[in-house]
Amino acid sequence: MELRKYGLFFLLISFIILGCTNQIKEAKDEILTPYELGNQNQTTTYEECIAFYKELASGSSKLNIQNIGITDSGWPLHLVTFNPESEFNFKKLSATKSIVLINNGIHPGEPEGIDASMMLMRDLVYSKIKLPKNTVLTLIPIYNIGGSLNRNTSSRVNQNGPEAYGFRGNALNYDLNRDFIKNDTENAKSFQQLFHLVNPDFFIDTHVSNGADYQYTLTHLYTQEDKLGKPLGALQNQFKKDISTLLKDQGIESTPYVNVFNRNPKEGFSQFYDSSRYSTGYTALFHTPGLMIETHMLKPYAQRVSQTYSFLKTILDYVDQNSKNLKSTRLKHANYWKTKTYYPLTHRIDSSKSKQFLFKGYASEFQESKLAEYQRLKYLQDRPENTVINYYNRFAVEDSVRIPQAFVIKSKYAKIINHLKRNQVILETIEKDTVFEVQVEYIQDYKTSRNPYEGHYYHYQTQTRSKAEEIIFQKGDVIVYTRQNSLRYVMESLEARAPNSFFNWNYFDAILQRKEGFSPYVFEDLAFDLLQEDLILKAKVDSVKRLNPNFKGYPLLNFIFRNSKYLEKDFMRYPIYKIP
Ligand SMILES: [Zn+2]
Repeated sequence: MELRKYGLFFLLISFIILGCTNQIKEAKDEILTPYELGNQNQTTTYEECIAFYKELASGSSKLNIQNIGITDSGWPLHLVTFNPESEFNFKKLSATKSIVLINNGIHPGEPEGIDASMMLMRDLVYSKIKLPKNTVLTLIPIYNIGGSLNRNTSSRVNQNGPEAYGFRGNALNYDLNRDFIKNDTENAKSFQQLFHLVNPDFFIDTHVSNGADYQYTLTHLYTQEDKLGKPLGALQNQFKKDISTLLKDQGIESTPYVNVFNRNPKEGFSQFYDSSRYSTGYTALFHTPGLMIETHMLKPYAQRVSQTYSFLKTILDYVDQNSKNLKSTRLKHANYWKTKTYYPLTHRIDSSKSKQFLFKGYASEFQESKLAEYQRLKYLQDRPENTVINYYNRFAVEDSVRIPQAFVIKSKYAKIINHLKRNQVILETIEKDTVFEVQVEYIQDYKTSRNPYEGHYYHYQTQTRSKAEEIIFQKGDVIVYTRQNSLRYVMESLEARAPNSFFNWNYFDAILQRKEGFSPYVFEDLAFDLLQEDLILKAKVDSVKRLNPNFKGYPLLNFIFRNSKYLEKDFMRYPIYKIP
């Protein structure tokens, strides 16, 4: 009797415990983001965001969160991975699965991707939406952690919410979306480490756009097709069309990124050219297609978050269905680049190939400003205007360079070698001191920006001339053969003329200044003797004199000095050598 009584008691207790467990499970199902808990015009803080993912990961074997490197803020960069099969070894995963990487909060004042990603990961973890079969979703919760911690309510002056957000500059006030090659920040170095660990097949970077007013909430900025190159360029174009159609089926209209500033886009516009300093430009160097999602800043925050969520989910589904094709095209694409003889350094808009589409904009007019006597642009949001516009999204190669067989770098340029290593560039170390003939590039001309830009007075329009020379290389110096997967990164960073080369980002400014000079009152006599001995030099001097009767005094002496054996060897001599 007593036992039966106790039995009943235990049964009762069991029900209560089971009931509680169910309640806990249900509560977990309901785990909400700070955005959802708030008034839908508020974005998560950095601390809340990381705590959210940690909580999600603690309750699910499908979600993994790990630290990858450090950022300038002192906090580590996080990588969050969702795989329904609970495998998180990327080497194993890349053999069978396609991998999507979403980067959020590079500009923390543009935070909808941060909030949308949290909801998307939660919905995947709790199987609220269709789970991918062939794809693993990875994301960076907040890339610019320092900027996110620098929370404020005023730095996005014209933006329609959220109420508070992070700042664009990182902990050291760099714009991270210019730092993908020059690498001034720890964030960029950690991103590279993470990017090569994950080796994504598709990349998404989330932003907000501000250049003009129009009806769309959603705009997309895919990496430029001609710059990306043929095999993936064609596939990405198909992706773009299909994904836009899939969004349209959900009632979401989208447009290519509206690349105008302070004028009505109904007059037409061109595609933004995302060079390798930008996120998608950098990922394209490693044969990863992708886009920046740019929502429109004047639309309500909730609408921007909701459409970003739909866009991310649609891309995930689409990549999942096209996983095999994407992966095989990436391999084809890497081989396509390896067979090229010339590398395109710059592109220009090919205006002969414009495309037309119906753009859903607003009428606008110029009105008298109330500030002073001038006309200001005013959009008339009550007058939607659909116009067929010209869109210029095809680019032609403007300047190119022959791809050398290899570059040779002396070990003393350790900073450069470290950048290459971090980017998975295969290096061959010279085993013993060796002399070999290389092509030496001399900087013939370059311009320097008048204003500081992202911590630099960068160079542009760099011109070089080359000369074959025999050089002694020492044990430990490295040879970088170009026919490898990282060919594009190697060419864009090591070719001095490339717009985002290490040279143009000031890594070699020390060679641009002479360390020794001459004393004119003494050199005068030596210069005269030099011209008597060197008739070629004399002919050069005479030809300049004929063109310029004022060619005398210091400029004349300097010309003779610079063309004599007394000029120091390293001046203007680019210390990254080529094996042609
Ligand atoms: Zn942005």
